[in-house]
Amino acid sequence: MKYVEKVLENLKKQNPNEPEFHQAATEILTSLSPIVEKHPEYEAAGLLERFVEPERVIMFRVPWVDDNGKVQVNKGYRVQFNSAIGPYKGGLRFRSDVNLSVIKFLGLEQILKNSLTGLPIGGGKGGSNFDPKGKSDREVMAFCQSFMTELYRHIGADTDVPAGDIGVGAREIGYLFGQYKRIRDEHVGVLTGRGLTYGGSLVRTEATGYGLVYITEEAMKARGDSFKGKTVIISGSGNVAIYACEKAQSLGAKVVAMYDSDGYVYDPEGIKLDIIKDIKEVKRGRISEYAQKVKSAKYTEGCKGLWTIPCDVALPCATQNEIDEESAKILVKNGVKYVAEGANMPSTLEAIDVFQKNKVVFLPAKAANAGGVATSALEMAQSSGRMFWSFEEVDAKLKNIMVSIYHNIDNAAKEYGYEGNYVMGANIAGFVKVATAMMAHGIV
Ligand code: NDP
Repeated sequence: MKYVEKVLENLKKQNPNEPEFHQAATEILTSLSPIVEKHPEYEAAGLLERFVEPERVIMFRVPWVDDNGKVQVNKGYRVQFNSAIGPYKGGLRFRSDVNLSVIKFLGLEQILKNSLTGLPIGGGKGGSNFDPKGKSDREVMAFCQSFMTELYRHIGADTDVPAGDIGVGAREIGYLFGQYKRIRDEHVGVLTGRGLTYGGSLVRTEATGYGLVYITEEAMKARGDSFKGKTVIISGSGNVAIYACEKAQSLGAKVVAMYDSDGYVYDPEGIKLDIIKDIKEVKRGRISEYAQKVKSAKYTEGCKGLWTIPCDVALPCATQNEIDEESAKILVKNGVKYVAEGANMPSTLEAIDVFQKNKVVFLPAKAANAGGVATSALEMAQSSGRMFWSFEEVDAKLKNIMVSIYHNIDNAAKEYGYEGNYVMGANIAGFVKVATAMMAHGIV
């Protein structure tokens, strides 16, 4: 049995009931076969076994009191996966479906994503099965304070620097940072995505969505194509989705549909983003309200129908496994040319296969959504240097990073004989740096 297959089989045996982790590990390890075969010293050093085993998994109780005076208890997680190339870095996700498998899949992906940015950041991820949706600000604060009262002892500006993810936006980062500062009496860059008045960076809010569009634009440019006049559909209506929509529109695309976890809106005249922002960012409302405000729009309950809307470009920006094989086939039948993943692992393994067999340009999450963590690393640099860069400066750096990620994964795919296969390209390009650093560190 080949080395990669042995490691995968063992991983599944040792970590049963972790389907998302198995899925991410299968995608990654399978595509690393060509490089592992070229380097027999990796097997001798047990490199892959160490790569798929987190350096540390922290699980903790998060008790808090709700507005009715009732005690609630949630689960807290921080997976410090790999610190070979820098301090652990990766977001916190607050959503009811969070469990260890989800955090481990996100953490494993994060190692390679962070490597691809070219910046010195290792991989980690964390979160809780707490869902801020429908909670009062006081309840969210109580939860965040309790969560940080345990987490603070495991993180630090040079150790582990969490950020936001699903359910963790500016409000949550503010409460988490406030509690960290209170306990440690340190005003340091221990979290990214901070507000602009307390150490945050311009463009961090926009970074993942803008970065997604920048890398897609570069892939289009390489094919003599552009966003101008393209019809785009975007899943989700959170942080990533909103700023992907903003940048795509500014480049001349027409975004016709978006969703939240209840259903989707289709607006053939083009989504009016100011209305989405008002519903989602200001009022924390539901996307169905868009159709009540905009005559040309239609709201449909349930999410899956979104993928049946004909488009040139699909940008999944909500959550894992939102595009299955059936949806991928419909997208292809309707003529989709580009699929770029804003969310983490939004396409199933079968869906990716459909895209690749049909020559759709497919940009996987670890490359396509790396703009968020790259800008977080720029926030860390500004924090350590006590500097504050202009919007234009950070945006230009972000764009450069995304353009160079595209060429990096394109070249790696070509070098290993898989031209145009960016799943292979991203995994290989991301892995090389981490593997080289791990080999240099000895058996640790
Ligand atoms: P937000 O919480 O801001 O938004 C998430 C959006 O996705 C909401 O519209 C939410 O709907 C929807 N959603 C979440 N879960 C589901 C589900 N199970 N089914 C349907 N819709 C769902 O999160 P972000 O925009 O920050 O994150 C979105 C994705 O992007 C995630 O996969 C995240 O890991 C990834 N990502 C985010 C980065 C960042 O910088 N924020 C960086 C890199 C990746 P509802 O409001 O109904 O819950």
